[in-house]
Amino acid sequence: MPAQYIKGVGPVRAAVLERIGVETVNDLLNHFPFRYEDRRKMKSIRGIMDNEETNIYAMVTKHRIVPLRRRRTALLKIVLEDGTGKAEMVCFNQPYLAEALPVGTQMIVHGKFRKKGTALQVSNFEYEKLAGTDEDLISTKRIVPIYPATEGLNQRFLRTIIKRVLDENAGSFSETLSDDIIRNHSLAPYSEAIMNVHFPQSFEYMEEARGRLIFEEFFYWELGMALKKLKVKEVEKERKYEVKKVLLSRFRENLGFEFTKAQKRVINEVFNDMLSPNPMNRLLQGDVGSGKTVVAISALLLAVENGYQAALMAPTEILAEQHMNTLDKLLSNLGLKVELITGRQTPKTRKAILERIEEGKADIVIGTHALIEGKVKFSKLGLVVIDEQHKFGVIQRARLREKGSSLDVLVMTATPIPRTLAMTVYGDLDVSVIDEMPPGRKPVITNSMKDTLCYDFVMKKVKEGSQVYIVYPLVNESDKLELKSVVEMAEKLKNTLFKKARVGILHGQMKSSEKESIMKRFLDKEIDILITTIIIEVGIDIPNASVMVIEHSERFGLATLHQLRGRVGRGAEQSYCILLGRAYSAESRQRKKVMLSTNDGFRIAEEDLRLRGSGEFFGTEQHGLPELKLANIVTDHKILNTARKAAFDLIEEDPDMELEENRNIRSKFTKKYKSRFALGDVG
Ligand code: ADP
Ligand code: MG
Repeated sequence: MPAQYIKGVGPVRAAVLERIGVETVNDLLNHFPFRYEDRRKMKSIRGIMDNEETNIYAMVTKHRIVPLRRRRTALLKIVLEDGTGKAEMVCFNQPYLAEALPVGTQMIVHGKFRKKGTALQVSNFEYEKLAGTDEDLISTKRIVPIYPATEGLNQRFLRTIIKRVLDENAGSFSETLSDDIIRNHSLAPYSEAIMNVHFPQSFEYMEEARGRLIFEEFFYWELGMALKKLKVKEVEKERKYEVKKVLLSRFRENLGFEFTKAQKRVINEVFNDMLSPNPMNRLLQGDVGSGKTVVAISALLLAVENGYQAALMAPTEILAEQHMNTLDKLLSNLGLKVELITGRQTPKTRKAILERIEEGKADIVIGTHALIEGKVKFSKLGLVVIDEQHKFGVIQRARLREKGSSLDVLVMTATPIPRTLAMTVYGDLDVSVIDEMPPGRKPVITNSMKDTLCYDFVMKKVKEGSQVYIVYPLVNESDKLELKSVVEMAEKLKNTLFKKARVGILHGQMKSSEKESIMKRFLDKEIDILITTIIIEVGIDIPNASVMVIEHSERFGLATLHQLRGRVGRGAEQSYCILLGRAYSAESRQRKKVMLSTNDGFRIAEEDLRLRGSGEFFGTEQHGLPELKLANIVTDHKILNTARKAAFDLIEEDPDMELEENRNIRSKFTKKYKSRFALGDVG
């Protein structure tokens, strides 16, 4: 039912409610308090101290109108007495209270009382007239909920309508979990929880209610994960793979290095998935520089040597371009057809490429998100690898499956996600971890110094033959003004301090061909210093570059700083990361401290999560994190674990949720969550 039809709401207030995301009665019930005030304590007026926040039970004995100088309105003071003393409600801009609270009104007043001379005054108050029983009180003499609100929507109104809905439906709320689960986890029943989360009988009841609702939020999310995982496992591939090693062996010969132990292990895990009769759905985690690309290529080659097409998707054009070059180099004598699709090809070129893909003439296709756009049709697609998955999000992952439900999918990410979060975001995937760096790497030395010292250092390193990145923050790559100032700054450096170096400038607004040529010249060591925006944040691999200077580093988040630093330290040379800029906020100081103290991506991710909270950690929508109302992935991870187990157990026992006891769960899941998990069209 639309919230508009709740008594006391109507179209105008309904519009305001919509602003806080409340459209239906159900939304309203799920609009939870963000804190509570204990207003249970009553006090007699005589005992109140200066500045005390409390409740009194009193009667209106007099109205006083105090004319205000230089103002048209007068000030209303309402005198209250309770037999022990007097207090005054000072009513600014509320002349209507004179009529609403006539002499003789009995009521409870809550507020902060101030002593003004001999008078006791309260100007910021909430009151309730005494009509029925204490049960009917909503804003006084109880634990009072404080809701997220907005302009034009006050607490009192929210409390009133929520209480109304709760009272009217008391006894008719249906249970949303099974008896088994409720019993096994000692949870409060739904009807009790929903009452106590809004109007708790006690703080213990409130905790219990919240615990139950948090469990429920996690449970349904994990149920979706469990079903998704199951669905993929249920599909049978038509493909039959064999490790023929035709392409793979030659690729290994071309490499020029041995795989690390960790790389061998995860390649095995990936191959096992591909050889199995069910589709692969695997996440490959490995810190920046750990060597994920060659794992991806091994998988691509296994698909191709078995006669299938394989796709590799990258989040940026320059990264896609780089992958193209890497494959060109490593697979040059294998006779494979590799195609690159980006968003900026001419229609004609594009059309020709699409045709080759559709006719099966392309073995490997590399591209940005353009790859999963509807127009790309494969003749025999078997495998998709998504690089830097965290830059895409689950939506794209879901759309990918539309290309074929039995596809093998490998997603790779360098942003090591704290375990708790990984379970939530990638709970339907199997996980492989590269926990070892290629041999001979020296940890990057991170420093912070004055700009002038840094530029001297840069020139010194350039003279020694090193290559340098200088990165400027640009909040919005398409912001022309901001970009202009970065380009001007770069030009200035180029013509003054860096006059003796070969300087290149790179940003997102440049033409693809220009970007490509700059990157190529940097790779070929024709450029010493690359001044750029964060378009080089992920994936770029130029092992000779050994200095990363981050301008205004205080403006970047930890994940980005770690990724940027990961652009250096990829060769045998000692690398440096220099953080410029002053940390003004406590948070940016903390970020800097973390960066100076560790190179470990997992630790950095944990700190990041702690500093930002889970909501912002990923940007909720993009990454398909559950929209959690009460639950907090970080602080409630214990509940998350039990809820996850309960959900996975249930699906293992009763995959179609057919048992009588699971009916509630099934119907709630279908109604509320099914579409979110894109179950049905997506494995
Ligand atoms: P990331 O995991 O960040 O994607 P890359 O795949 O780009 O890392 O690899 C980083 C660098 O390490 C590349 O230059 C790559 O050629 C090199 N590399 C990868 N594996 C090894 C290895 N086993 N031994 C030596 N160098 C390696
Ligand atoms: Mg990479």
